[in-house]
Amino acid sequence: MIDLRSDTVTRPTAAMREAMLAAPLGDDVFGDDPSVNTLQERIAQGLGFEAALFMPTGTQSNLCALMSHCLRGDEYLVGQFAHTYRWEGGGAAVLGSIQPQPLPHQSDGTLALADIEANIKPDDAHFARTRLLCLENTLGGKVLPNTYLAQASALASRHGLARHLDGARLFNAAVVNAQGGDAWAAAREIAQHFDSVSVCFSKGLGAPVGSALCGSRDFIRRAHRWRKMAGGGMRQAGMLAAAASHALDHHVNRLADDHALARRLAAGLEQIPALRVEAPQSNIVFADLAPQVPAARASELLSFLKSRGVLATGLYRLRFVTHLDVDAQGVDLALAALREFFNA
Ligand SMILES: *Cc1c(COP(=O)(O)O)cnc(C)c1O
Repeated sequence: MIDLRSDTVTRPTAAMREAMLAAPLGDDVFGDDPSVNTLQERIAQGLGFEAALFMPTGTQSNLCALMSHCLRGDEYLVGQFAHTYRWEGGGAAVLGSIQPQPLPHQSDGTLALADIEANIKPDDAHFARTRLLCLENTLGGKVLPNTYLAQASALASRHGLARHLDGARLFNAAVVNAQGGDAWAAAREIAQHFDSVSVCFSKGLGAPVGSALCGSRDFIRRAHRWRKMAGGGMRQAGMLAAAASHALDHHVNRLADDHALARRLAAGLEQIPALRVEAPQSNIVFADLAPQVPAARASELLSFLKSRGVLATGLYRLRFVTHLDVDAQGVDLALAALREFFNA
């Protein structure tokens, strides 16, 4: 199968499995797992924070971040299509009693500064207390410009808001910004605009499980309590942390290959008249059916592709994600199946 549904579908490489087997272990609930501690120190330092916490999932990482920034009855400003708002079961509201204030995205994925400012509520008993600005980078594969991050961050600070980045695909953004240079420096450049950053190891980086939440020592102490409460206190988690460390050693710079494959895929899709393709900035390609094509064709397309050994998703739009378990041959096979379906 050529699985383009998500960059989460990757299997650990043989070298990653070896690193997992070799990992020194302890009980991380006692803080005793050396592999977890090494990973936490490394990601914190690498992104310019005092501390970090290894998390089972990005969802739990974001939840613990929001709950560490906000109290019951507080509010956070967030994009209408942001993962924390739309794709995490409403956890901030359900479990954190934190009210989201969703804002529309501009075409580049940003939230307009004027919208942010207009939605910061006055200190008045009618309103929830606006406490936090939450951004996402990449958002749907789009890289938010660093100049924008600086402006949004300054605006939030001026109003006393904390700033959280859902950086599930932070390293995809960093590799794009670095243009072949130092991806870690580019990642720090993004992270410096935030009080906390969550990063996923189980997306393009290819680890089987895991995210990290980074922030100040005091913030991470609060998040640690929420993580325990959420059931995220793991024991010999070093096997998983070792996979994440291996990913940081070997799978960061290669994200550029995924981005090149996404461009190859998009270039092929553009040759199909029935599709309207959005030029990808990183590893996610979105396409829509051209206006003259009946909408029902989308679900027919997905099952046809499956019959040809190609998996994609079409929840809102057709989406194809490249990752370390697909290569140029796989992309070309997917394109051949798409051309066959559309007789293009
Ligand atoms: C995948 C993802 C997460 C977290 O997902 P988990 O499946 O819980 O690890 C958070 N934010 C974004 C933007 C994501 O893409």
